[in-house]
Amino acid sequence: MGPSGIVPDVHQMSRPKRQHVETVLARVRQGVKLSSRETTLLLGLCEEDQIEAVFKAARDVRRTHFGEKVFLYGFVYFSTYCRNDCTFCSFRRSNRKCWRYRKEEAEILEAACQLAASGVHLIDLTMGEDPEYFCKGPSGFDKLVRLVESVGKATGLPAMISPGVVPDDVLGALARVGATWYACYQETHRRALFNQLRPGQSYDARLEKKILARKLGLLIEEGLLTGAGESIDDVAHSIYVMGALNADQVRVMSFIPQRGTPMEGWASPDRLRELLTIAVMRLVFPERLIPASLDVDGLSGLKHRLDAGANVVTSLVPPDCGLAGVSQNSLDIKNSRRTAAGVLPVLKECGLKVGDSADYGVWVDSRRRAAKGESFTGQVTC
Ligand code: SF4
Repeated sequence: MGPSGIVPDVHQMSRPKRQHVETVLARVRQGVKLSSRETTLLLGLCEEDQIEAVFKAARDVRRTHFGEKVFLYGFVYFSTYCRNDCTFCSFRRSNRKCWRYRKEEAEILEAACQLAASGVHLIDLTMGEDPEYFCKGPSGFDKLVRLVESVGKATGLPAMISPGVVPDDVLGALARVGATWYACYQETHRRALFNQLRPGQSYDARLEKKILARKLGLLIEEGLLTGAGESIDDVAHSIYVMGALNADQVRVMSFIPQRGTPMEGWASPDRLRELLTIAVMRLVFPERLIPASLDVDGLSGLKHRLDAGANVVTSLVPPDCGLAGVSQNSLDIKNSRRTAAGVLPVLKECGLKVGDSADYGVWVDSRRRAAKGESFTGQVTC
């Protein structure tokens, strides 16, 4: 393992000829799909001019499908209690050094309405696998379902739910009360690494919950963690699995070491890996949504992620609501830099603008229509 938590592999060492990379990128611009070999090749680039060429191609592909428009997501992390013990996460059950809170419905509604008024396109309702919801039987989950319904009614916005691996009937109830998205990150699609990162959890249960969500009419988001022990081949494999899942939104975030966790002493990886993964995901999934998360480097990292081809700004957190981010719990929140207004100058600098709600609605509807025509074979090879 390298000092940054990334396993070096042969592809990292290779220096493909510039002309070969240019040929691959020219074909992608014409709509030709990347082969798995080409995906790995691009992920492993280390020459600055070649990497810049990939970023430029990613921006061109984004422009073809989305013009200059990007979307904004508000983030409400309403409970940081969790029954799980993920080794990378500050909110793991056994960490006594993290910031725990559980918000009441009124507080959640207030934060969601504040975000809606600021102009976001979606409210992301996230929690750990909080025993208050998970271990109280039906009454715990009823509370969750009511909450999602209330937020939808109060804001009039689509909701993304990130509640962890809830029972099937609860997922169905969440879809029925109007949730639009289900987010549940695998982090990696290598079982051995998954077991290290998410000890005691089922790889298959997590993956199958996303397949079920899709069948229930929810859009799904899949996510990777980089710098947590994966190789470039592993990232390419994850991109393949994301494609097999037909995930509507795909994301990657760099590992940030968290106090009081087993991975506290790990280094955070060079951001190049995350940026190159964003760009390659854009080339592989031209018409999907790809977040630039404020949760890793705050506002200062936004331009790099947008320049790599992202088209959603996530983890906008209302100030003064006592809410955390995920990996950077407080970065840029209190000083109001993680707000819709706060990101506008960066969008302008990147030649981008905020899309209309109608644009977002059209995109969501088109993905939902496409999902209806899908038939899942359950053959997601991992
Ligand atoms: S990543 Fe999620 S499931 Fe794992 S410990 Fe953190 S909050 Fe819990």
